[in-house]
Amino acid sequence: MPGGRMKRSEIAIIGGGPSGLMAAEILSLQGHSVTVYDSMPTVARKFLLAGKSGLNITHSEDFQRFADRFGAASKPLRTALDAFTPTDVRAWADNLGTETFVGSSGRVFPKAMKASPLLRAWIKRLEAQGVRILTRHRWLGFDGQALAFETPDGRKSVHSDATLLALGGASYPRLGSVAGWLAALKGKDVDIADFRPANCGFDVAWSDPFRERFAGEALKSVTAKSAAGTFPGEFVISRHGIEGSLVYAHAAALRDRLATQGAAALTIDLAPGRSSERLAKDLARQDGKASFSNRLRKGAGLEGVKSALLREIAPDAARAEPQALADLVKALPISVLRPRPITEAISSAGGIRWSAVDESYMLKALPGVFVAGEMIDWEAPTGGYLLTACFATGRAAARGMDAWLQQSQNGG
Ligand SMILES: Cc1cc2nc3c(=O)[nH]c(=O)nc-3n(C[C@H](O)[C@H](O)[C@H](O)COP(=O)(O)OP(=O)(O)OC[C@H]3O[C@@H](n4cnc5c(N)ncnc54)[C@H](O)[C@@H]3O)c2cc1C
Repeated sequence: MPGGRMKRSEIAIIGGGPSGLMAAEILSLQGHSVTVYDSMPTVARKFLLAGKSGLNITHSEDFQRFADRFGAASKPLRTALDAFTPTDVRAWADNLGTETFVGSSGRVFPKAMKASPLLRAWIKRLEAQGVRILTRHRWLGFDGQALAFETPDGRKSVHSDATLLALGGASYPRLGSVAGWLAALKGKDVDIADFRPANCGFDVAWSDPFRERFAGEALKSVTAKSAAGTFPGEFVISRHGIEGSLVYAHAAALRDRLATQGAAALTIDLAPGRSSERLAKDLARQDGKASFSNRLRKGAGLEGVKSALLREIAPDAARAEPQALADLVKALPISVLRPRPITEAISSAGGIRWSAVDESYMLKALPGVFVAGEMIDWEAPTGGYLLTACFATGRAAARGMDAWLQQSQNGG
C-alpha cells in the first residue's frame, strides 16, 4: 500500500457508471484491489448516451448557485461537491485528454461534444491502475456475507472486504439501470424513497389536428413559469405532450404539484420581449377585418407553432379584446396531465434516503457497504449537475470506504 499504511483490501464496486468508475479510480490509487462488476456487456452506457447530446459534464455558474440546484439534497451533498467542484471536473477531464469549453448557457461540454474519447481514456487509465472490469455480472443480492452474481457461467459468490453499490437510478432501464437492487436492499431494512421521473416530459391532451400538424416542432425564445420560477429557453411539442430542456427545468415542480394537487400547468410567455400593455396596443392597432392569424403575426409576431399553440389552448382567443389577448400571449397555461413514464426520463428522483446513509456514504444498516450516484435520493435539473454529483459522490464514498477500512484494520 502507498505509505505502507494498511493491507491491500479486496473491493467490489457494483455498477460501472460514472459514480462507480470514479470510486474505482480513487480506491485503486489508494492501492486497493478493485473489481468493477456490471450487468451489461459494456460499462457506462448511460454516460455514453449522454454524449450523444454533447455530454454536458458540469456547469460554470457561481458555485453556491451550483450547489443550490440540488434543492433539499444540497445540504447532504455539499461535502462531496466541495471536494470535487465543477472546476475539478474540468481539470479531471483535461487530465484524461478531454478539453472542455463553456457554452453560451454556462454549461460545460467536451470540445469533442461526445463521451467516447473520455470514456476510452478513463478505462485505459483504470486498467493501468489495476482495476478489473467484469461485465455480464448481474448483482442479485447478498448470499450471507458474500455478494451473489448471475454470470454467463452461472451463479457466482464473491467475498469482498468492502463493497460499493453504484447501480444508478431507474430511468432509461435499457441502458442497465433497472433498479433491480431495490428488493435486495429493502430486505436489509434500507429506507428507500419510491422512484419518480425527473427531467421528463409531460402528457398534454392535444387535439388530433394539433398533434398531427405540430408534433416535433420547437417553440424557441419563450419563457416558462411554474412553482420552480420563470426561465427562458425552448421546448418541443411531442405526440404525447411537451418535452425538452425548458420543460425539464420545471419537471420536478410540475410532477410534485400533480402529486399533491392533482393538476398542474406550465405557463408560457410567447412574447417575452414585450410587455402585456405594449402587446395590447400593438394588437389593437390591427385591422379588425384581417384574419386572426394575420393579427397575431403582425400585432404580436406570432406565427406557426406559437400561433397554433395559442389557438389550441384558447380556442376563443380570436374573439378576445386586445388586452385579454395580450394577457394570453404573455401567460398561456399548458395543463399537464402526468409525467411521461420513468423509462423515458433523463434521470430519476427517489432512491436510498439520506437518513439510511452515514456521512461516509456507508449504509447504516449494512456496515462495509457504501453507495454513490443516482441510486441515492437526490435530483437536479439538466445542466451537468447530474454527472458532477455522480462523480463527487463516487469519490466521497471511495474516501469514506478507505477510511472505514483503515479503521477496521486498526481494530476501530
Ligand atoms: C439520454 C440521457 C442524457 C443524459 N445527459 C446528461 C448530461 O448531458 N449531463 C449530465 O450531467 N447527466 C446526463 N444524464 C444523466 C447521467 O447520465 C446519469 O445521472 C448518470 O449516468 C448516473 O450515473 P450512475 O453512475 O449513478 O449510474 P448509471 O450511469 O446508471 O450506471 C449504473 C450502472 O450500474 C449497472 N447495474 C445496474 N444494476 C446492476 C446489477 N444488478 N448488477 C450489476 N450492475 C448493475 C448498470 O448496467 C450501469 O452500468 C443523461 C441521462 C440520459 C438518460
